[in-house]
Amino acid sequence: MSYEVFARKYRPQTFDDLVGQAHVSRTLKNAVAQNRLAHAYLFVGPRGIGKTSTARILAKSLNCIHGPTVTPCGVCDNCREIAAGNSLDVIEIDGASNNSVEDVRQLRDNVRYAPAKGRYKIYLIDEVHMLSAQAFNALLKTLEEPPAHVKFIFATTEPQKVLPTILSRCQRFDLHRIPANLIAQHLQFIAGKEKITLEPAAAHAIARGAEGGLRDAESMLDQLVAFCGEKIGESDVLNVFGFTSEQTVVELTGRILQGETPATLELLYEQSENGKDMMRLMSDLIVYLRDLLVFKAKPDAVKEDVDPDLQKSLTAHAGLIATDRLLELIDQFAAAEGRMKWAPNKKLHFEVAIIKAIQSLGQATLDEVIEKLGELRNGKTVSQKESPSVAAGVSPASQNAAAGPAATTATRVAETAPPDEPYSIELWQKILAKIPVKGFLRTLSESIRPIGIDGRNFLLGHSPDDKSKIEALASANNRRQLEMLLKEATGRDWSVKFVAKDGIPPSSAVDAAKSAQSFKDDPLIQEALEMFNAQIKS
Ligand SMILES: [Zn+2]
Repeated sequence: MSYEVFARKYRPQTFDDLVGQAHVSRTLKNAVAQNRLAHAYLFVGPRGIGKTSTARILAKSLNCIHGPTVTPCGVCDNCREIAAGNSLDVIEIDGASNNSVEDVRQLRDNVRYAPAKGRYKIYLIDEVHMLSAQAFNALLKTLEEPPAHVKFIFATTEPQKVLPTILSRCQRFDLHRIPANLIAQHLQFIAGKEKITLEPAAAHAIARGAEGGLRDAESMLDQLVAFCGEKIGESDVLNVFGFTSEQTVVELTGRILQGETPATLELLYEQSENGKDMMRLMSDLIVYLRDLLVFKAKPDAVKEDVDPDLQKSLTAHAGLIATDRLLELIDQFAAAEGRMKWAPNKKLHFEVAIIKAIQSLGQATLDEVIEKLGELRNGKTVSQKESPSVAAGVSPASQNAAAGPAATTATRVAETAPPDEPYSIELWQKILAKIPVKGFLRTLSESIRPIGIDGRNFLLGHSPDDKSKIEALASANNRRQLEMLLKEATGRDWSVKFVAKDGIPPSSAVDAAKSAQSFKDDPLIQEALEMFNAQIKS
């Protein structure tokens, strides 16, 4: 038997065989079952995702001798001829090469004749957007008043190039890119039938490389079988196609997010030395960052596209970067990708993009600038009131150091209560009385409670569930204000420490609304709103 490529051999034969297009097959099946058929259908979507296959299955459904049926038998003459592409009643036209008005005129003349064997005469026009304007107009005449025995099925990758008058006469179906997990599953199905051992990681690497196109994935599998024989591992896929492993992309992202410029560049160098395709790596990186963005917004949304291992790395990376920063990063890399396309030295552009990205991650965001401005403003009063301590030999730098990032690091303390707890509670009551009833500081103070004193450290506990909230609220400014209030009350220097502690109830959901309100009530925010004549959208 002659060799048949997988894409052809495993071409879907029924609606249920279609991979990843359930929304289309369900609607078409219902239409056929209820005999509510349109005169013209338009299948839209990128190449290699099943437009022509869907069209042929629909044609079989209509013309099968047992039809119209949602389950064409596949063995009658009509079904077999349609599957083989030589049915007299199903006329397949490639819009790219038969785009002249002459071709369409010929079609119009033939439309009048009844079908030879089947129920319908079906015109399948692929790449319909390639038809010339005159050809479109000629076609339109037929579409306006089609004979009852005629059905049109159009397919296109570029619907925006199809005349609106044609579009409006078609039932349109948008076929989707197929999720990587579904493609990987289908590849395993083929591998099983062909007695090929395909590592799951290899299947996933192919699926990622195919970018949602099933036909491409099948062709890649063909190539791999020719190259490696019956056992295909992930490294085979990566080597044959110059892909970078998912693990490497994860590693690269991790190093970028942690701001490790030398280590990131080193990894890039390794990849380039190993002959990896830099364009591909860049697009993989962007895809991963995009997944991360989606994951941050809605963790469930990427489930279909990524395997469980990758979900773990997404979870880890999501905590390392804020959403607005991530958007910026994607923008930067997308721009770099555009520059790389035409550049002879792609690696150079990649390196520059990485260095810039890491640099920009170290720069302040608008939110941080606003906070810093606030600190500056309050700073005046701070320095006046603190001048005695400066005179006493405590330099502002050392105070800053105490209030620096190290102080925010929430440390879990032993469950035994530190000494001086009653005193700290009493002191805290005095502090609370002085905190303004609105603003960030109030929200913060309501989510924490005193748990003791340790030397010059005033320990404030919070629920482990509130960790990220506390980190956000415990700005240097807020900490300094608390320390100031403590000093006013006691006459000595303090350093506040936030500690995650089991047993403290998390601030409830009701507080979320409260904190949104306190955000709006914060004097600084109000001032900013006035300054920009702005409003807060809820
Ligand atoms: Zn049949």
